[in-house]
Amino acid sequence: MTDDAQTDQLTFQNPVTRFPEITPPKQHQPEPGLDQELVPKTDRGQRSYRGTGRLEGRKALITGADSGIGAAVAIAFAREGADVALSYLPAEEADAQEIKRCIEESGRRAVLLPGDLADPEFCERLVDRAAEALGGLDALVNNAGRQIAVADIADLRDEQWTATFETNIHAIYRVSKAALKHLPAGSTIVNSTSIQAYKPSETLLDYASTKAAINNFTKGLGQQLAPKGIRVNAVAPGPIWTPLQVSDGQPKDALPEFGKNTPIGRAGQPTELAPAYVFLTSPESSYVIGETLNVNGGTPSP
Ligand code: NAD
Ligand code: MG
Repeated sequence: MTDDAQTDQLTFQNPVTRFPEITPPKQHQPEPGLDQELVPKTDRGQRSYRGTGRLEGRKALITGADSGIGAAVAIAFAREGADVALSYLPAEEADAQEIKRCIEESGRRAVLLPGDLADPEFCERLVDRAAEALGGLDALVNNAGRQIAVADIADLRDEQWTATFETNIHAIYRVSKAALKHLPAGSTIVNSTSIQAYKPSETLLDYASTKAAINNFTKGLGQQLAPKGIRVNAVAPGPIWTPLQVSDGQPKDALPEFGKNTPIGRAGQPTELAPAYVFLTSPESSYVIGETLNVNGGTPSP
């Protein structure tokens, strides 16, 4: 079992050995997968992330905030001083409750908003309910995503292709559009893309295509909203140990070796992504627009 890092993210340390080495056993969970049932457990920074006041008083909506990278971002945002609305699927209530507790223990508010982002009406309702509950909105993290590996295009069903696009990119367009009426100048949008945007796996045709689209959308919308003082950026994770990987995100045989082929030699932990999202949301990145910040253990990326 992976225990949380013993030191916080600001302590000088060797990144190769910062976390206990993991060799995940072959395992399967039905989609969307739960952090609670993942072996080994992930490090979302519950015990280690130290805030430094970078998001004081901010009001953030984070999709896919119950688990994995989104959960680590939600915890970090709360420790940095933000109140957070969490979007997730109803089946993930147990994970979401755990993150809510963690946010409240950090002294901030957590608002739970379960629902399906593949439903266009829910996308709009989600944003309005988040803004209402938080008393406004000035940070959006479009992080939800689905990833189902299929070895042969002949077996890739039209329903899967469409569902992946609905969740991964159509929802980003819809949620961002709905958020604009709430976002004052100074607000930020950060989208979760992937190294798959540039280095597509042969088994992830639909998923990788959506991630390339997210990068492109980020750079276009970034230019459009810059004059309004709203910054749009993206984070491109490499292989990060999360429930996405065991709910058909990877072929099962690949799980024990997951992330070991990176230059750093290991998979990333969700909490290692959080500082990138914090940076792009914090006012300190005021001149950073349309950027994709790669957090991937050293694989060269454009
Ligand atoms: P995760 O499973 O913990 O998070 C994905 C979340 O997406 C789920 O928790 C779920 O709440 C949400 N989601 C999926 N379908 C949804 C739907 N129809 N409606 C509402 N919410 C839905 O996995 P993660 O790895 O933390 O993924 C977060 C993001 O990071 C995703 O966009 C993923 O593509 C991206 N990413 C992950 C990796 C990795 O190696 N884990 C690498 C690159 C990019
Ligand atoms: Mg989840």
